[in-house]
Amino acid sequence: MKLETLAIHAGNHGEPTTGAVIPPIILSTTFERGPNGNFVDGRDIYARASNPNRRMLEEKLAALEGGTDAITFASGQAATMSVFHALGANSHVILPDDIYYGTRYMIESLYAHWGMTYSAVDMTDIKQIKKAIRKNTTLIWIETPSNPSLKLTDIQAVVKLAKAKNILVGCDNTWATPFFTKPLEFGVDIVMHSTTKYFGGHSDILSGGIIVNDNIDATIKGRIRNFQSTGGAIPSPFDCWLLFRSLATFPVRMPVHAQNAMKLATFLEGFQQIEKVNYPGLKSNQYHKVAKKQMQNGFGGMMSILVKGGQEAALKLTSQLKLVKHATSLGGVETLIEHRKTAEGEHSKSPDNLLRISVGIENIDDLIADFRQALETI
Ligand SMILES: *Cc1c(COP(=O)(O)O)cnc(C)c1O
Repeated sequence: MKLETLAIHAGNHGEPTTGAVIPPIILSTTFERGPNGNFVDGRDIYARASNPNRRMLEEKLAALEGGTDAITFASGQAATMSVFHALGANSHVILPDDIYYGTRYMIESLYAHWGMTYSAVDMTDIKQIKKAIRKNTTLIWIETPSNPSLKLTDIQAVVKLAKAKNILVGCDNTWATPFFTKPLEFGVDIVMHSTTKYFGGHSDILSGGIIVNDNIDATIKGRIRNFQSTGGAIPSPFDCWLLFRSLATFPVRMPVHAQNAMKLATFLEGFQQIEKVNYPGLKSNQYHKVAKKQMQNGFGGMMSILVKGGQEAALKLTSQLKLVKHATSLGGVETLIEHRKTAEGEHSKSPDNLLRISVGIENIDDLIADFRQALETI
């Protein structure tokens, strides 16, 4: 079945006792055993280990990414952590140099005393990745488009390099989502999502997920699952239910994000106060060719802009916008803008004048009008 159908029907087994079409939220932490003290086939035992809402959600997520298994977590960060945990001590991982800030910070703050090290490289250059590989390299982590510069990594090229050296490939697919890119089809071992973003789509659920297929090493998959059920970094039944519900409209929302982003990028590119627009859908973008190769249905809803006049002008622009809110996060129905440098703090590598935009699904004319009036004041 196609994505639109899977988004609605995958994992929805309704509720057989009442005939409810939409599954209820099961809050119970514990489940009764059979008459002889036996564990009843297909029945849960304890909610940390498993819960019906979580199981339904995982079935839907696996279907949307084209995987066989999904493992969900309390946040995107917990999902990433499950992968680093699975690698074990003294691992070396290769990351993109403009990776989501929290991923790099996680290694520095939580895994340094495990002996975990990383190399941050420009992943648009395969030679740099090759040069960074060491004897103890266990994982190459891709993020494409990257945050916040929207650089594109050629997934197939990285997979080819990694497979030859028996290195796992993980891909943070939060930005592209399976609507635009399906990393498992390119041979990636592990897909990670902050489902807080486009999957949730309404800025009201914090959660994460790992999706794999049958090619994954069974030990690694077992450790990721165990990190969830024994480590306990699980999403609540309510969050699972709400995310399950939000996913039904995911394929309807995504094309609007992409169409709006394309129109806004084109508008902003022509504006004299803007130094540069980073959006892979623009023909002028240096990553447009790679984007066309591995993105389908459009180029996503994320972009960043460089404003003439440095940090001061950039912050002035955010304060002049009326409809568009200055706030972190992305992937919601509402348009958000953010000055990444001040969000990321003193170790930020983002340019002073960079603003990241998560383009929502409002009417594009209203968004353009808001940007026009704000740009005219700076
Ligand atoms: C938000 C985000 C994360 C972290 O996810 P949380 O749900 O906030 O823990 C990881 N990667 C990317 C690309 C993100 O945008």
